[in-house]
Amino acid sequence: MASTTGITIVATFFIIVFSLLILRGFLPSQRTADEKVSNVPEPTIVSTLLSAALHESVILPGSFAFTKATNSYWAKQESEVIPACVVRPRTTKELSVTVKILKQEYDKDPRGMFAVRSGGHSPVPNAASMQGGVLIDLSLFNEVTPSEDRSSVTIGAGNRWKDVSTVLDKIGLAVVGGRNSNVGVGGLTLGVCSNVISFEIVLASGTVTTASELVNYDLWNALKGGSNNFGIVTSFRVRAFPSTNVWSGFLYLPNSQSSKVVAAFHEFVGRTDTYDKYTAGPIACFTYVQPLGLQVVSVNLVYTKPEKWPACWKSSGFASLWRFWSTCKVQSLTSATDELNGLNPPGRRQVLAATTIKNDLPTLIAAHAIYRDSIEALRGIKGLSWTFVMQPILPEWVKIGSPNPMGLDTDEALVIVSFTVNWEKDRDDEFVNMMTRNAVEEIEAVAARNGTGNRYRYLNYCAKFQKPFEGYGEENWRFLKETSRKYDPEGLFQRGCTGGFKLGMGE
Ligand SMILES: Cc1cc2nc3c(=O)[nH]c(=O)nc-3n(C[C@H](O)[C@H](O)[C@H](O)COP(=O)(O)OP(=O)(O)OC[C@H]3O[C@@H](n4cnc5c(N)ncnc54)[C@H](O)[C@@H]3O)c2cc1C
Repeated sequence: MASTTGITIVATFFIIVFSLLILRGFLPSQRTADEKVSNVPEPTIVSTLLSAALHESVILPGSFAFTKATNSYWAKQESEVIPACVVRPRTTKELSVTVKILKQEYDKDPRGMFAVRSGGHSPVPNAASMQGGVLIDLSLFNEVTPSEDRSSVTIGAGNRWKDVSTVLDKIGLAVVGGRNSNVGVGGLTLGVCSNVISFEIVLASGTVTTASELVNYDLWNALKGGSNNFGIVTSFRVRAFPSTNVWSGFLYLPNSQSSKVVAAFHEFVGRTDTYDKYTAGPIACFTYVQPLGLQVVSVNLVYTKPEKWPACWKSSGFASLWRFWSTCKVQSLTSATDELNGLNPPGRRQVLAATTIKNDLPTLIAAHAIYRDSIEALRGIKGLSWTFVMQPILPEWVKIGSPNPMGLDTDEALVIVSFTVNWEKDRDDEFVNMMTRNAVEEIEAVAARNGTGNRYRYLNYCAKFQKPFEGYGEENWRFLKETSRKYDPEGLFQRGCTGGFKLGMGE
């Protein structure tokens, strides 16, 4: 009884402290039109041409709509990049006209001219924005249309995953997508998804075409992991499957449980004989919260059926660990992905970086130690949240889906270890970026020494300094470059479309 009361007091304390933290320090800061005035670029020849051709779909600086459009990024650094205009095409035809104008100007003077944005969740600076350039905002490509036989869904490239699951939850369907409801369909799918039956895409010439197993097979392959290097995708037709509510949530544990969490993660991911296709995760997160000066551990567990503590999780080391609090419950997919979104509010300075290692306990322990030992140097960073994340890639998952160029051919479990870091002040950008890079490179050095590294770098979690296409392997990388030359011989999407990870065609 006494210990139950003690636990309740501790849990209540943490809930109050976290609530205060969110209300005070971690509230996303809103920017106003005034804040941006000093940074507003002059009109350019290209923005003038686009305004003349598509004036109802072009948004210019100085309007509320412009401020809203350029503020709607997840990372604050991206919101600080101000384009000369935002083009928000209403139709594929308008997007095609936009690309034709850009190509015509690019042919006269090949240089960086535009960026493409879907959900705006990439934390890589300038991935989906360009100072003084053209921002193509896909948010009006927002259809979510299940096929009559319920085997597939056509999803506009401007949707966020919440838009998709909100429609599909109601009719008992689901598709493979993001765990975070606010992430965009466009960036995530082009960075990883091998579940796409066909893409509709506007090529560098302005031609609208389809890429599928039967039409433009090479382009279909290249787009599954090739990001924004081949054109602008307007919609994805993806496989759908029947779905019910899921069991999902987080366990919150004290830092003293860290080593047990690492061990439980390793044991669970290493299981070879009990694979259950309804299990997702675990995602183990270790966070140093600077305003509180303490570390917390959280573990996300998911079962894609409405079953509380299913056998797979009940038999895992996580079930018996002492914790403050659990949010695991049966809920809709939308509600589960909203929970993750709530933990990652927009409007803060952000960096993400990742590497891949084998599921080797000494390497996992060393990686966690690198996270922990970095904290001392980071204590002075105002509003810092320094999170080390471990998530599995199981061989069973890699084998599902259609061919793709990611080069992830593994018979053993791998672990993506990543840092997701946010803080308040721009004066700390350089230092935090450097610490994040150092931590990732130290983990890679340990893994290389232990023989437990893997070349794969998940593009969607990579930082600017990383080269995810090299991690796809020599042959796949060459294939992507050849496909780019075939569909975009002048390199509009290599040089004209700035931002994101490029193929390094000149290298
Ligand atoms: C808080 C958070 C949670 C996340 N959760 C997950 C997760 O659960 N699972 C996961 O796999 N990843 C996750 N990610 C990573 C995420 O997948 C990437 O950041 C992804 O790039 C975001 O896509 P977006 O459309 O929102 O981004 P954007 O910033 O809009 O775009 C990212 C890149 O894709 C390009 N692009 C976007 N749409 C198109 C298009 N239609 N045609 C051509 N190019 C395009 C852009 O030009 C840009 O270079 C998460 C990231 C964050 C920050």
